[in-house]
Amino acid sequence: MDVVNPASGVTFATAPRADAGQAEQAIASARRAFPDWAALGFPARRRYIRDFADAMRSRSDDLARLLTMEQGKPLHEARQEVAGAIAAIDHYADLELVPRVLRETTNERIIEQRYPLGVVAAITPWNYPLLLLMVKLAPALVTGNAVIAKPAPTTPLTTLLLGEIAADILPAGVFQTLTDRNDLGELLSRHPGVAHVSFTGSTPTGKKVLGSAAGTLKRFTLELGGNDAALILDDADIVSVAPRIFAGATANAGQICLAIKRVYAPRSMIDTLCAELARLAGEAVVGDGMDTATTIGPIQNREQFAKVQAFIEEARKHGSIVAGGEALPGPGYFIAPTIVRGLSDNARLVREEQFGPVLPVLAYDDLDEAIARINDSEYGLGGSVWSADVERGIAVASRIESGTVWVNKHLELPFDVPFGGAKQSGIGRQQGIEGMEDFTQPRIINVALA
Ligand code: NAD
Repeated sequence: MDVVNPASGVTFATAPRADAGQAEQAIASARRAFPDWAALGFPARRRYIRDFADAMRSRSDDLARLLTMEQGKPLHEARQEVAGAIAAIDHYADLELVPRVLRETTNERIIEQRYPLGVVAAITPWNYPLLLLMVKLAPALVTGNAVIAKPAPTTPLTTLLLGEIAADILPAGVFQTLTDRNDLGELLSRHPGVAHVSFTGSTPTGKKVLGSAAGTLKRFTLELGGNDAALILDDADIVSVAPRIFAGATANAGQICLAIKRVYAPRSMIDTLCAELARLAGEAVVGDGMDTATTIGPIQNREQFAKVQAFIEEARKHGSIVAGGEALPGPGYFIAPTIVRGLSDNARLVREEQFGPVLPVLAYDDLDEAIARINDSEYGLGGSVWSADVERGIAVASRIESGTVWVNKHLELPFDVPFGGAKQSGIGRQQGIEGMEDFTQPRIINVALA
């Protein structure tokens, strides 16, 4: 398969395309590897995992450069992603799931154990190919599962390099990569030899995974789309909040499930907020991620590039563009950061997931009404509340129907804190102990002592 650099629109590498027969081979190989890997126990697996993390560290520059070339993000963001992926593996290497005694009396002892599930399919999207894989791979391996990674077709290379790094360290079959053209995810999700599908991607594809998994009642985790709102309260300092809103909406060129995708502010603050956001948009440097001056890279692929442009065209008809509003000339997939005001709540840019550096700014007159408008969404992934009064911020955050709501920040996912979606943003949790337990089956041992 051709792999295109989104900064140039030019094919710079090719990747193998696995067929269904090779997917069957990978599943069979993972099933063969699983019992010995599971039997090793946490301490022995930890040694392998730590070696894997060290090997990644020694290749981190290669991983970061490759990531920028295939994904587009500025090199400093790629370095952060690689460092984050290594931090994730370090974090999980230290953890262990120990049996819990649920009851101990003179007559009985009841213990809850957790054992690994078997073969895990880790299916990932193209926005954070390394980090999103690692929050699956690390806990799945540490708990004793064998993993098959299936990256998105437009960003296969970093996952392949990760597999190459692991090949010298992990036992054969414990971690494999299949690269496809969007045609093997269904096979993996449906296959009786796969015990768990850990999926990150869009809500429509997540629904397909749910359907495919139903036939075998396999375990699954769905991390899906979002339409996060940032809600600015009337006591917030708009000038200090605006740069953080802008960063939350445009990091990774807005291609983040948890990016700020709509912002609500009191009507009296809208002019100042738009002026600040427009100034920040004007200062942003859009370009090739390899250029050190770049602050916003390209959209990752041509299809998404066209989709973001369609969002802008519709927004132009129904609202007013206060900054950006255009694709940049040139062969790469660049969009100028775009701020739009005056849209109704029914506009596509407000209701749907734009997944690009385009932000609608919406006015409200009454806080209850603003919360109701925010909650009137099929999504519920993240969100944030911005206030000078932290307690007030927490009280308002407690009324937002979402898996994560930040107060005075946006986009922070510590590995020890569980994360996942409400409503159609997903089912299940990743990260935290919950994200580890997700790759295990609980087993109750119930013993008569008397
Ligand atoms: P996508 O749903 O198109 O693809 C995701 C993955 O699913 C790819 O690897 C793809 O090949 C695979 N796939 C395609 N058809 C499949 C099928 N029938 N069965 C199983 N797998 C299949 O998503 P995308 O466009 O690559 O990524 C963008 C989306 O991902 C956005 O909606 C974004 O919000 C979401 N996302 C969610 C999170 C989260 O943690 N909630 C994180 C990042 C991205």
